[in-house]
Amino acid sequence: MSDCIFCKIVRGELPASKVYEDEELLAFHDIHPFARVHLLIIPKLHVASLADCTVAHQDLLGKMLLLAPRLAKESGLDAGFKTLINTGRGGGQEVFHIHVHVFGGGDPAKRA
Ligand code: 5GP
Ligand code: ZN
Repeated sequence: MSDCIFCKIVRGELPASKVYEDEELLAFHDIHPFARVHLLIIPKLHVASLADCTVAHQDLLGKMLLLAPRLAKESGLDAGFKTLINTGRGGGQEVFHIHVHVFGGGDPAKRA
């Protein structure tokens, strides 16, 4: 998707503070963190939302979720962390390239 912000990050056209990358996934710091640690895990493949996923995406979704505890641990979230997938406008989704929020470690806005 040429105009998708997260696809631009995947292609290196927009900067991001990356914490993980492999053939299928990318993870980076959220630009507006709502916790001490706030990461986004995305697939390199453009999929708009969880509502657009099919059985063809189940391995990819599993890999995204399994990466969350690994990155949380590496970020020092030893006491635990939260995961969040906003889906659709009514679900608070603003960037329509599926992503898992991984966050924790204290939050001034009491969201984490
Ligand atoms: P959503 O509401 O779609 O679940 O969350 C989108 C998230 O992407 C927001 O937390 C927002 O701060 C983050 N975000 C939006 N644009 C950028 C960007 O260009 N770079 C990074 N690193 N995060 C972004
Ligand atoms: Zn995209």
